[in-house]
Amino acid sequence: MRTAAGERLEVLVSSHDIKTRVEQLGKRITADYDGKDLVLIGILKGSFVFIADLARAIDLPLAVDFMAVSSYGMSTQSSGVVRIVKDLDHSLDGKHVLVVEDIVDTGLTLNYIYGHLKSRGAMSVKICSLLDKVSRRQVAVPIHYKGFEIPDEFVVGYGLDVEERYRNLPDVCRVIKS
Ligand code: 5GP
Repeated sequence: MRTAAGERLEVLVSSHDIKTRVEQLGKRITADYDGKDLVLIGILKGSFVFIADLARAIDLPLAVDFMAVSSYGMSTQSSGVVRIVKDLDHSLDGKHVLVVEDIVDTGLTLNYIYGHLKSRGAMSVKICSLLDKVSRRQVAVPIHYKGFEIPDEFVVGYGLDVEERYRNLPDVCRVIKS
């Protein structure tokens, strides 16, 4: 992909590896939620690519909803302050919820979302994250379905951005400043 001036991209997780892993996760989720009323909740914006692929890898009559929260703004550091910017469109009563997240870093965002969703009448709430920066964790959050553990590096692509750029990259990449 063409990059912004002074930036180079280096692939950390390839689109091929992502595709294979998403198919595996889809099969597991299909088996685990068979016969249950499943709703995938994507956390915008970063999860939009992952949830699109994951939803199609799950062979169940599921529903999809989205939430947007703000914690990072335009900065690359977690503030720890989480605010719901867009709430769900539908009730969770009687539903089995699977939160679909792009990346868990400090865990502050997901810890808030997990607690919040558990109080909204769902039968169960579980978490699926494509990426896990495990060494950065500040609060423990259960990641029931995980794509890849990655090192403590800022990554872009497959939905993840830096100042809104690179979400459309098919691979997860490091940005190298030159
Ligand atoms: P946490 O609250 O776990 O620290 O942060 C979670 C959110 O921070 C993610 O949903 C994502 O939006 C953002 N984030 C954390 N690490 C990265 C990263 O390496 N790259 C990008 N683009 N966003 C990140």
